[in-house]
Amino acid sequence: MLILTIMIYVVGSSNTDMVVRSEKLPAPGETVIGESFLMNPGGKGANQAVGASRLGGQVTFIGKIGDDLFGRGTLDHFRQEGLVTDFVVTDPELPSGIALINVNAAGENCIAVAPGANNALMGQEVLAGLEKLTAGDIVLVQLEIQPEAVEAAVNRAREKGAKVILNPAPARHLPDNLLHDLFLITPNETEAALLTGMPVSGEEDVRRAAQMLLQKGVRNVVITLGSRGALIRTNAYERMIAAPEVTAVDTTAAGDCFNGALAVGLSERMNLEDAVRFACAAAAVSVTRPGAQSAMPYRKEVVRE
Ligand code: ADP
Repeated sequence: MLILTIMIYVVGSSNTDMVVRSEKLPAPGETVIGESFLMNPGGKGANQAVGASRLGGQVTFIGKIGDDLFGRGTLDHFRQEGLVTDFVVTDPELPSGIALINVNAAGENCIAVAPGANNALMGQEVLAGLEKLTAGDIVLVQLEIQPEAVEAAVNRAREKGAKVILNPAPARHLPDNLLHDLFLITPNETEAALLTGMPVSGEEDVRRAAQMLLQKGVRNVVITLGSRGALIRTNAYERMIAAPEVTAVDTTAAGDCFNGALAVGLSERMNLEDAVRFACAAAAVSVTRPGAQSAMPYRKEVVRE
């Protein structure tokens, strides 16, 4: 019997993070001389796509870059990471997305993001990228692109019987019709609080928030809980999955690694609980290393608990 590969489509943002480390952060009007400069690929969409690809997923990235050095660098990088880039659109006018990040000696940061081309990804372009989407495929979306692009992805996936994983980050309100009949939502505690309008701190709150999201019509809820792991809530069961104990050095993009891994687990036909265990194992590796995409583990580095 022919078993078809389940494809993963990541619809989202890509940025180039430019990080200057200096003793202190510059005040308004001040220039400080930095100690080091690093350029890292970032953006939640790209982080999740690279994370999924390194773990063995067949990943197509749908997003928008500028016709500039950063955009060309991003495309080369995506190809090296094994992503299908046929639907990475180049905007003729807007610059590629960038983030300017200052970090001081205490590790505090201040960040300015210019989303540029990310904000110009159109619903039509998302639909073009999802042209070959078939039932059972996985569409992974975050909220660093315009609502129109998110809605196009979610609605097309619904029509085709594909599974949507909506990672509602960064936190913003979502219309009820987007949540209705959604396959899976993966907020962290802050995002769960914003989506439900209730405070989420402590296990009882987490359970209640998950229940409320189910009532809004989401079919499966996974709330990520940092070093505590994740809570799964479906209409059939509720389960707490513990995170492996590790020494965290940098939790940037832990959630991105988690979502990329979850998509890979589901694309390998794991059930939701096994896929969440796999995602916890992968994200635990990612927090032991610095950076975002650079911290994403390869498959052989992830031991399933
Ligand atoms: P976000 O990065 O989006 O804020 P979380 O902080 O909830 O999301 O982290 C996402 C996932 O990463 C968690 O569910 C967990 O599996 C893993 N994780 C985060 N921090 C740690 C940690 N200190 N130790 C082990 N796993 C972690």
